[in-house]
Amino acid sequence: MNSHHLKLIQLRRKITLALLLVLPTVAIPSLHAQGKSIRVIAFGAHPDDCDLGAGGLAAKYAAAGYKVKFVSLTNGDAGHQSMGGTELANRRRAEASEAGRRIGIEYEVLDNHDGQLLPSLVVREQVIREIRQWKADIVIAPRPNDYHPDHRYTGILVQDASYMVIVPDVVKDTPPLSSNPVFLYYADRFKKPQPFQPDIVVSIDDVFDKKVDMLDAQVSQFYEWLPWTMHALDQVPQDPAARKKWLANDSIFLPKVNPAWRKALEKYYGPTAAAKIQHAEAFEITEYGRQLTEREIRALFPFFSAK
Ligand SMILES: [Zn+2]
Repeated sequence: MNSHHLKLIQLRRKITLALLLVLPTVAIPSLHAQGKSIRVIAFGAHPDDCDLGAGGLAAKYAAAGYKVKFVSLTNGDAGHQSMGGTELANRRRAEASEAGRRIGIEYEVLDNHDGQLLPSLVVREQVIREIRQWKADIVIAPRPNDYHPDHRYTGILVQDASYMVIVPDVVKDTPPLSSNPVFLYYADRFKKPQPFQPDIVVSIDDVFDKKVDMLDAQVSQFYEWLPWTMHALDQVPQDPAARKKWLANDSIFLPKVNPAWRKALEKYYGPTAAAKIQHAEAFEITEYGRQLTEREIRALFPFFSAK
């Protein structure tokens, strides 16, 4: 940073301070301070998808007193090397419910079969009902572009619901929302047809232990099935405390901040604080739901330090 740059920053700070002093009514109080709620619903294909993509964000909202719900569109009854069917679905439902309990959110697992999800009208209507019943302000889902067909169709199903949630003649048994929520995508690594765009990046360092605790509840996923698919089952410690430590520090499930997210972190936290952030979650604002101004982003995500 050169001195010219520093002077510009100092000048900008002075102007911001002056504006805050002169125009106190212009300053945006957080929605919480205004007594307004923020209701968040996240969809995943399997009972661990939401946890990976938004477990930290959910823990932050929950800690701030807001309501969050995770919904798995399938019951996870096909993703295991030695179990399956109802026995596995029951285990997955119990694990998801415990994961939600650990960070203070609701977790629902729908009874659609794992590995067989399709963008059908029946499931689209389930998604519309969930969003309406939750009276969601923010809806999170995968991009409709992914290696796993269930993830891909979850993205399509939520996208297909994103306008229908306000249409009264659709799903008449559940009252429509009066306005369209914000629809966000989880971060992913896919580059075609276009890469993920980190519009909103939230530090989760303050809730990292809670995210670890949440993932730790999904025993059949993070300590059994996923390591098995990676031929890495032998790396998972047997002892519960040791395996939790492995999950937090050595597994690939909780990576450090993606360098491509640094710019957004600097914007929201300032360069000094951003440089110290170890773990974060990023989201892209879809073009299908409500669009947000910068002011609205800061009101809906009351976690940022830089103005
Ligand atoms: Zn999945």
